[in-house]
Amino acid sequence: MPIPDALKQHARKCRLCSKQLIFARTDAGMRVPLDTVAPTFTVEDEGGGELRAKRATSFVSHFATCPAANEFGRKAKSKEATSGR
Ligand SMILES: [Zn+2]
Repeated sequence: MPIPDALKQHARKCRLCSKQLIFARTDAGMRVPLDTVAPTFTVEDEGGGELRAKRATSFVSHFATCPAANEFGRKAKSKEATSGR
């Protein structure tokens, strides 16, 4: 899924895998890298024995999807630690 047009101005590239991401702040004040995901839906029971599926724009943490995810903390730290050496 491409990043929605309305959010494209916030797009950044992952420094490890170059995938396009957006960064957003959680209620707890943490900045999280987010990937777009395949179409998702919320489901509501509207009675009458049928469920109503509503399209939702959802994102998944890039920490969970980055192919180089286990490098995240390490690379960020080692880069700062080694700069200037
Ligand atoms: Zn990545």
